[in-house]
Amino acid sequence: MRHQDWDDDSDEAPSAPDAREEARALQELRAIYRQADAAYAPFSCPASGECCQLAKTKRQPWLWAPEWLLLARHHPLPPPREDGGCPYLDASGKRCSVYADRPFGCRTFFCERIRGPARQPSDTVSALLIRLERVSERIMPSLKSPRPILEWHAEAVDREE
Ligand code: SF4
Repeated sequence: MRHQDWDDDSDEAPSAPDAREEARALQELRAIYRQADAAYAPFSCPASGECCQLAKTKRQPWLWAPEWLLLARHHPLPPPREDGGCPYLDASGKRCSVYADRPFGCRTFFCERIRGPARQPSDTVSALLIRLERVSERIMPSLKSPRPILEWHAEAVDREE
């Protein structure tokens, strides 16, 4: 059975099993996020928002399908930012407007200004990433690797135009 892509242009409502599958995927994604947050609870940073200035840092979070689904389903699609920052930055350019739903990479990436224990929980991160990939496979089997957030975003903006 083909799983319906939530980005499809089709006007057809998703079939019930797909909707249930998506709901399960988001539930599991939130559990993964909670475990990532727990693993990073002893760590902190100055929260400057500089790591969200994607054009300047030349880094961006790469998202599996459920991560984009969570953003696309539960938040308005923001326009691209002129400064090349993540579109989900707020108007000040310093705060994430989707903080509770921010992608896995945003939860587990810290720059050199990280504060906390000497060792980051890399084993936990690796295990959670494997789980995340499996959840993604269930709802979008065609996706073989995560995609940069700006790619997901640009595709969604194009579709809206
Ligand atoms: S989703 Fe939020 S935390 Fe992640 S890069 Fe964008 S603004 Fe920053």
